[in-house]
Amino acid sequence: MPTLPASVMGPIRWLLAMLCLASLSAQAAIEVGTLPDELNLGPHVQLLEDAEREFDIEQLVARGDALAWQASRQETLNFSFSDSAWWVRLRIENQASTAVRRLLELAMPLHDYLDAYVVDEQGGIVSRWHSGDRRHFDSRPVAHRTFVLPVRVPVAASREVYLRLDTHDGLYDATPLSLMSDEGFLAKAQRELMAFSLYFGALLALLIYNLLLYVATRERSLLLYVAYLGSFFVLMFTARGFAFQHWWPAFPQFNNQLVPINIGLFAVTLAVFSNSFLNLREHAPGATRVILGVAGLCLLSSLPALLGHYAPVFRLMIPAAIVLSGLLLGVAAWRSWHHDTLARIYLVAWGVLLVGVALYFLRVAGVLPYNLVTEYAVQVGSGIEFLLLSLGLAWKINQFKNEKLAAERATLELQRSLNERLEIEVEQRTRELESANRRLTALARTDPLTGLLNRRQFHELVDEKLQVRRRSGQPLLFAVMDIDDFKLFNDTHGHQAGDEVLIQVSTLMLDHFRRAGDCLFRLGGEEFGILLEADSLSAGQHALERFRQALERLRIPHAGSSHGVVTGSFGLVYCSDCRRVPSAMALYRQADRAMYEAKERSRNRVVTRPMGGVENDA
Ligand code: GH3
Ligand code: MG
Ligand code: MG
Repeated sequence: MPTLPASVMGPIRWLLAMLCLASLSAQAAIEVGTLPDELNLGPHVQLLEDAEREFDIEQLVARGDALAWQASRQETLNFSFSDSAWWVRLRIENQASTAVRRLLELAMPLHDYLDAYVVDEQGGIVSRWHSGDRRHFDSRPVAHRTFVLPVRVPVAASREVYLRLDTHDGLYDATPLSLMSDEGFLAKAQRELMAFSLYFGALLALLIYNLLLYVATRERSLLLYVAYLGSFFVLMFTARGFAFQHWWPAFPQFNNQLVPINIGLFAVTLAVFSNSFLNLREHAPGATRVILGVAGLCLLSSLPALLGHYAPVFRLMIPAAIVLSGLLLGVAAWRSWHHDTLARIYLVAWGVLLVGVALYFLRVAGVLPYNLVTEYAVQVGSGIEFLLLSLGLAWKINQFKNEKLAAERATLELQRSLNERLEIEVEQRTRELESANRRLTALARTDPLTGLLNRRQFHELVDEKLQVRRRSGQPLLFAVMDIDDFKLFNDTHGHQAGDEVLIQVSTLMLDHFRRAGDCLFRLGGEEFGILLEADSLSAGQHALERFRQALERLRIPHAGSSHGVVTGSFGLVYCSDCRRVPSAMALYRQADRAMYEAKERSRNRVVTRPMGGVENDA
């Protein structure tokens, strides 16, 4: 934004210049026959302030040195905010042997009114032009973005050149003035055009590239960058005089309004872009409001330009722009301090631009010499700034992508752990359900008091075994046991004690019949079933007999029994060919019959019956 601080620095420079003014100095003529390619006229001209706008060229020529002409020692003319018109005078002479043509350039494309006169030794006006950027572009004698006036000096002659500088409403800017040969001007114009083409070309490439990136990614900060860069591009293109020359040469008023309006727009796009770039809404919401407010003020203060008021616009806009820049740099520095990489990139980008702007103004102020570096410092600075910011955006987008990836990964991880937990829970519930089912099944299959298989199981299991043995031809041994005189036991010792006996007997059974394939049932009351896994009938009888004796040896007192202790009667069935046994029930009936025989034979014994065969005592 070179136009802003220029106007601020104006008064300071002007004060310095005033101190250097030598009053009423007679002017030495510039020898143009042996002129170098380019001569800066700043220190060689004389100035006359025309506060009342009372003079015209004829009066000046007539009154000559009687007026208060003062020698300028400024490197670059600058009248800053001034309500006066200013006259500039220089004298040139040609001591060469041929007539020469020299070009006088006033290199401030936005200067409002420029009237130029060339006067010969007799005081005759040989050329006059009325130009300035408030007039049609065609008013320029040379079609160039700055004001270029051709001055002819015949052999051994001298000329006085008078320039009248005036403004629309009192706003001057730094006005470099130089005198060149045609070759010098051509070389300079080419050099400039090359530099500006590279510069604007680079900006345009960045703009289009980022716009395409935005179309592809829909990343909002890219669009804001494009808006920011776009407004800067138009501002620079206008401020450097290219827009007027190439885009709207017939609309000087529009061209003039565009500069302040564009500065306002630039401030707003800068603020909005910086907010997004530095993510200030999150990090410093208070500062965001202030920054947007100040930028809005910049834009608002540019509006009077639409009504033709320019000087007041800049009086308000310049401090607002300085505050805005300070705020943005301050916030970026503060974020950098907090290790924000984007803020650091931003700060470096702005730092580069500020160095460029500083070099430019130090040149304008005459502190630094005119050279390639100081001439294009702003262009180089702003070009690097936009490159760095574009790089920062790429970094930001990459960071977004990484954050998104991390979030996706975290979500996936969460989902996975939830699934895992769910699976574990389902597994646990299934196990619980299975064990409950097992318990239920066991409950349905067993007798609650003794834990032995119940009568229903007896039917199912024995029928199954019969079926297997019918096919395999293996024999089967089955016994029924009934506790003797149990009713009497209950009557004598109580039902509770009776239950205890049932438990003791079943525990003893479990202890005795432990071969794989042995099955024990409580068939009802004090009656039990025993499916024996024995190799032979005698082995089965032997096992039963051992159990009977063991029961006796338990010596559970039974007052009502003739044996004095609890005993049992056993009916054993042996079927050598299971094909002859139709059902478990038939097997049971036969065993029951054998058991009753044991009862009849004074109890406490084992009676064996073959299935469908002859009885057999143990
Ligand atoms: P026997 O020697 O002829 O078998 O005579 P008994 O008294 O054992 O036979 P009976 O069929 O007359 O009586 C069986 C008794 O068993 C009747 C009943 O009180 C008792 N009983 C049946 N189930 C249970 C039970 O679950 N608990 C108890 N404590 N007693 C039972
Ligand atoms: Mg009984
Ligand atoms: Mg009994």
